[in-house]
Amino acid sequence: MDKISLLDLSSDQLKTLLNDWGEPGYRAGQIEAWLYQRYAADISEMTNLPAALRRRLAESYLANPLRPVVSLDSSDGYTQKTLFALPDGREIETVLMRYDRRQTLCISSQAGCAMACPFCATGQMGFMRNLSGGEIVAQVLAYARLLAQEEKRVSNIVFMGMGEPLANYAATWEAIRRLNDPAGFNLGARSMTLSTVGVVPGIRRMIKEPEQVGLAVSLHAPNDALRDIIVPINRRYPLAMLMGAVRDYAAETRRRVTFEYALMDSLNDQPEHADQFAALVEGLLCHINLIPLNPTPGSPWSGSPDERVYAFRDRLAGAGIPTTVRLRRGIDIAAGCGQLRNSHSRTASQAVILPA
Ligand code: SAH
Repeated sequence: MDKISLLDLSSDQLKTLLNDWGEPGYRAGQIEAWLYQRYAADISEMTNLPAALRRRLAESYLANPLRPVVSLDSSDGYTQKTLFALPDGREIETVLMRYDRRQTLCISSQAGCAMACPFCATGQMGFMRNLSGGEIVAQVLAYARLLAQEEKRVSNIVFMGMGEPLANYAATWEAIRRLNDPAGFNLGARSMTLSTVGVVPGIRRMIKEPEQVGLAVSLHAPNDALRDIIVPINRRYPLAMLMGAVRDYAAETRRRVTFEYALMDSLNDQPEHADQFAALVEGLLCHINLIPLNPTPGSPWSGSPDERVYAFRDRLAGAGIPTTVRLRRGIDIAAGCGQLRNSHSRTASQAVILPA
């Protein structure tokens, strides 16, 4: 039988298990401290547990279920990307971005993605499966372990790796609660941002959640004719429906919404697109992030030239909308969504293999 990750047990389930085994009440807390505060990669590290209990646990359970396959450092010196294998051999990506005082981790919610955006490497590979809550949390703990060696921590989390988090809602929120829980990873919900392609029912559910997680929406096109092509889920949740949900979210939570917009040469980067975008978000508490499209093999479109990126920004800013041009972080290590898994399958020889 396949082993279960301890990260997929709730506190109550862990307590019940240990109670059934006749262990004292404090064991669950000890194990949780090893998992969430000391980032144990293996049950054998939990040295304040009796050896017999460690052996018994290890027969059926894993601590961190992720195995690093390959890790790449960007020449910018600030970005690192790891491809992790899940116990069933599926692969996911996690990206660390270092800033002056922050370490932001970009995590995956699914292996592959069903949303099929043609410009996105993950969209092109198709959907493999949902991650469990524990597999989502495990990415954070694996990187927290690395950063702890430098006395740093994961200070921000963005759900912008592989997959559509709102298409895996239950596991994503289980992970958010565990990451937020003071007995878990203990990171403030405001330090987490969930990015969605625009799954409207999920956005509406988010409004009701007590955790104050930020919302980012991958817009990429300001009218339905164009968005139907660039972001195919738009045919199911067109812009009027999406913007209705986003406006309700902003009004009810009073939180600023981020829009992501990848500028694609001559496709969505014209002055009229900026004007349509400005009209779409008029009066909404929001921020726009512009990024020239990262090159992806197989993408029908390419990134806009810099002058058009800055003209687009100036036009939005001129309409009074806070707009930032994002640096292309880690472009040389293909740190765009899904790009490492794809390039790894083709050119494994260029990769640096991490020690196990
Ligand atoms: N499915 C979610 C989260 C994952 S993608 C979403 O769509 O928001 C994270 C971001 O990377 C999204 O904004 C996505 O559109 C963007 N992205 C994907 N491929 C890209 C590329 N080649 N260049 C620039 N941004 C890209």
